[in-house]
Amino acid sequence: MKRIAIVGGGPAALMLSAQIDTEKYKVTLYEKNKAVGRKFLVAGVGGLNLTYDTDTDDLVKHYSPSAFMAPIIQQFTIRELRQWLYDRGIDSYAGSSHRVFPDEALKPIDVLNKIVHQVVSNKVDILYEHKWIGWGEDGQLLFEGEEVITADLVVFALGGASWSVTGSDGKWATLFEQKGVRIEELRAANCAFAVDWDETFITAHQGKPLKNIGLQFQDHYSKGELVLTTFGLEGNAIYAMSESLQNSLSAGKDTVVHLDLKPSMTTEQLLTKYKKSKRSKVTEILQKDLNLDRASIGLLKQYSSRETFLNPELLVALIKAVPIKLLASDGLDKAISSLGGIAVEAMDDNFQLHKLPHTYAIGEMVDWYAPTGGYLLQGCFSMGYVLAEHLNGL
Ligand SMILES: Cc1cc2nc3c(=O)[nH]c(=O)nc-3n(C[C@H](O)[C@H](O)[C@H](O)COP(=O)(O)OP(=O)(O)OC[C@H]3O[C@@H](n4cnc5c(N)ncnc54)[C@H](O)[C@@H]3O)c2cc1C
Repeated sequence: MKRIAIVGGGPAALMLSAQIDTEKYKVTLYEKNKAVGRKFLVAGVGGLNLTYDTDTDDLVKHYSPSAFMAPIIQQFTIRELRQWLYDRGIDSYAGSSHRVFPDEALKPIDVLNKIVHQVVSNKVDILYEHKWIGWGEDGQLLFEGEEVITADLVVFALGGASWSVTGSDGKWATLFEQKGVRIEELRAANCAFAVDWDETFITAHQGKPLKNIGLQFQDHYSKGELVLTTFGLEGNAIYAMSESLQNSLSAGKDTVVHLDLKPSMTTEQLLTKYKKSKRSKVTEILQKDLNLDRASIGLLKQYSSRETFLNPELLVALIKAVPIKLLASDGLDKAISSLGGIAVEAMDDNFQLHKLPHTYAIGEMVDWYAPTGGYLLQGCFSMGYVLAEHLNGL
């Protein structure tokens, strides 16, 4: 019987391990921590988004490179993932934001345990505290503590490089580079961005959310929420465009996002409402007639001259597009996910590395990007499932 070594124990590896045909292969999963799925549990702290409820054609548009991820998602769709989870006792529901959460009775650890139970029932051995540290001269897998393992097929699912406390520290990148595998630089994604705020403004408003806003950067537009912090801006609206923002910042370009504080109203509607107001103080018009909160009004003051603030046409134009210059991204370790990793050109259509035959890589360690909100886990689960189908068919 051929042996498969799966290295790393995140969602991508767990799905593969649950689906691999153990009548055909002897499969062992090696995880460096004392438990698998630590990042999955961290993901559950602020509300675990298992996937994003939309049709497949729409979903794949949110991944890049879309041409790489689309066939993977099409082979294991949102509906199929939810059904797979349901069949293992993990019911889920889609919230009003389209994010899909586990049933309220299930904590993230319950979800993880049910998935791990599936892996164990599939007769995959899980070896904990097994840290892979490189290859031996004949291509064997070397583990800390001088353990040497040989396998017919090896699948790496070591994760990205954010939140290293969970185990995914990106240290594998150098080892793969030494083998000639092309690695794109690991950078923060789904992360906060720095803004040079006026000190008085940010002292008064730090921690405040800007809800139901729109955000534009080049041809990217996202709706959602932002939070004002002393560092800058964070929240799903800016996370969603983090790849383009990173690319712009890396190229040394001026990176300015335009914030729409009233995306539900046109400039004309806002102006009409403004002009109909019986109040004389601008701040009161903004607060009481245009329903802007104090943080939004503070922001308008920071980004306008006195002349603009007192001119209804100019002020309304600013409400629809506050230009905020971003200076840098937050550090990789604090990011929800990472950009970069193994270049998709370094592997064939079945995730096998050109430079390392019989060696595969899946999950966040591969260079694809998606916004947070369920897309990342869907991507990882789909990759694990698709690779299992391929290996089972060999
Ligand atoms: C705060 C936060 C919130 C998130 N929220 C969501 C969300 O709501 N929805 C969503 O879709 N995504 C979310 N994500 C992202 C999601 O958790 C990741 O994209 C996903 O876990 C990546 O899965 P993976 O299988 O590629 O790797 P990982 O989950 O990163 O797992 C990799 C595993 O490999 C192990 N490993 C690493 N190096 C070695 C080694 N040398 N030897 C042996 N083992 C090793 C690690 O210990 C780890 O267990 C969130 C992430 C964070 C940090």
